[in-house]
Amino acid sequence: RCGYVAIVGRPNVGKSTLLNHLLGQKLSITSRKPQTTRHQVLGIKTTETAQMLFVDTPGIHGGEDRALNRFMNRTASAALAAVDIVVMVVDRGEWRDDDERVLRSCVASNAPVLLVINKVDLEDNPNAILPSLQSLADRADFAALIPLSALRGRNLDVLETEIVQR
Ligand code: GDP
Ligand code: MG
Repeated sequence: RCGYVAIVGRPNVGKSTLLNHLLGQKLSITSRKPQTTRHQVLGIKTTETAQMLFVDTPGIHGGEDRALNRFMNRTASAALAAVDIVVMVVDRGEWRDDDERVLRSCVASNAPVLLVINKVDLEDNPNAILPSLQSLADRADFAALIPLSALRGRNLDVLETEIVQR
């Protein structure tokens, strides 16, 4: 089995950190500074049963004013054109206009969307994200909602299992 998986989301939610952890190597540059990823970064993960081609994308965001922003938005949207699965990454429950914009691109791709709620390690009480999970679930017909920590590598196996099952 093999599949093409796009990792999308607004800047700074942890897309590149997630890709690196899934692949077990520092392939994509991560940074506190938004807009570090400016091009598509491809990575292939091979397991005993599956081969997954991941593409990390620049964050999709509202600023269309600067040429760089336009370029980055176009690059991210192009990655969605021919995917089997979309992994949309958000910051644990904090939903912004840019997330809405990303969601619209995801839905337009017609591929199943797995919603990753990242940075759960920043929450002292794991139950604190439950109400926001419910409101996220109501926003679209997600194939799955997966809270995880890309930085600490928590719950990544759940994401991998969801990807391989599709
Ligand atoms: P991208 O712009 O979506 O690719 O985001 P990056 O992967 O570059 O990460 C942006 C910032 O968030 C960096 O400082 C990361 O170390 C941090 N970050 C990413 N994932 C996590 C996480 O699961 N937990 C915490 N606490 N920080 C994270
Ligand atoms: Mg990045």
